[in-house]
Amino acid sequence: MTTPRPQPGIMNIAPYKGGESKIAGTDTVIKLSSNEGAFGPSPATVKALEEAALTIHRYPDGHAPDLRAAIAERYGLEPQRIVLGAGSDEIINMLCQAYVGPGDEVLYSEHGFLMYGISAMAAGATPVKAPETDLKADVDNLLAAVTENTRLVFVANPNNPTGTFLTADELQRLRDGLRDDIMLIVDAAYAEYVTGTPTYTDGMDMARDADNVVMTRTFSKMYGLGGARLGWAYMPEAVAAVLNRVRGPFNVSVPAQAAGLAAFNDTAFTDMCRAHNDEWLKRTQDALRQLGLFVPEGVGNFVLVRFPDVAAAEAADDHLKSRGIIARRVAGYGLPDCLRITIGKADEMEAVIAALREFMGADT
Ligand SMILES: *Cc1c(COP(=O)(O)O)cnc(C)c1O
Repeated sequence: MTTPRPQPGIMNIAPYKGGESKIAGTDTVIKLSSNEGAFGPSPATVKALEEAALTIHRYPDGHAPDLRAAIAERYGLEPQRIVLGAGSDEIINMLCQAYVGPGDEVLYSEHGFLMYGISAMAAGATPVKAPETDLKADVDNLLAAVTENTRLVFVANPNNPTGTFLTADELQRLRDGLRDDIMLIVDAAYAEYVTGTPTYTDGMDMARDADNVVMTRTFSKMYGLGGARLGWAYMPEAVAAVLNRVRGPFNVSVPAQAAGLAAFNDTAFTDMCRAHNDEWLKRTQDALRQLGLFVPEGVGNFVLVRFPDVAAAEAADDHLKSRGIIARRVAGYGLPDCLRITIGKADEMEAVIAALREFMGADT
């Protein structure tokens, strides 16, 4: 008997698991497992969503002209070089679908975002990981891992789950060391959160001037729209012409476009989110370091914390859960001795710090 068979490679994919959201026996949880914005969607965003419900019978305008124009205007970009996706995950997927196949290699760093490998394998290509140094992408190791089959290189800046980033100089050195026919994708999912870090780049300037650089962004983090699925990318016009051929004509829904535009324009809300994150990222990093835990120098809306060993990380996770707090295990990223904790509201972070102080015996 023969049964339908998927394309080679697909059954080798380890399915992506999102952050947990429930603790058995607990009604109220503090969910810090998916890097979702601490404050949810802004009231203006919710209102736009409610209004969009009235036109939900209409197909969206697949070119999303209003949202692309707003993004283009704020950052000084050409609208025809912006492509939207149902989350930046979809854009990552489209890039792999359009640019790689069997025999091709997709390169990223050791603890890089899991979707790069998943999308590469879904397209039949081979994911290749370059070792990191001190939980940070290493330009020399990435360049050393390039072969004649390399087609795409993904760098999350900052990276999830480590929070570390390549400086503008390092990213430029990576680009300069890659063949021109290799595309560099800078995934700047957390760029909205980065402040006071002059060496940081979201890759936008590099993408503006190059024929082979793409920058991706998301509405899933600071804008609080993870559930709506909305992301965007800035790319050379030739790449946009490719993605607009593989992109579903209505890939970004009416509510996603409406909510995205309202969220993007609500700068008072995002300013508040950024200031809160700035304060609590530092406070959380400092507090956990004071407990003797290793926390890499990171930016974004999360901290990675390394425990003495795997058993300690598991025990810490259990202890947090006993206090109603859900962090993210990151064994799937090759970091079984670490937890990733999203920056939540002030009282939530106070609860995290108190629970980990207790776990580390700092209060006895
Ligand atoms: C959260 C995240 C994304 C965003 O994914 P969406 O599909 O836009 O929700 C992309 N890249 C990285 C590194 C992330 O952490």
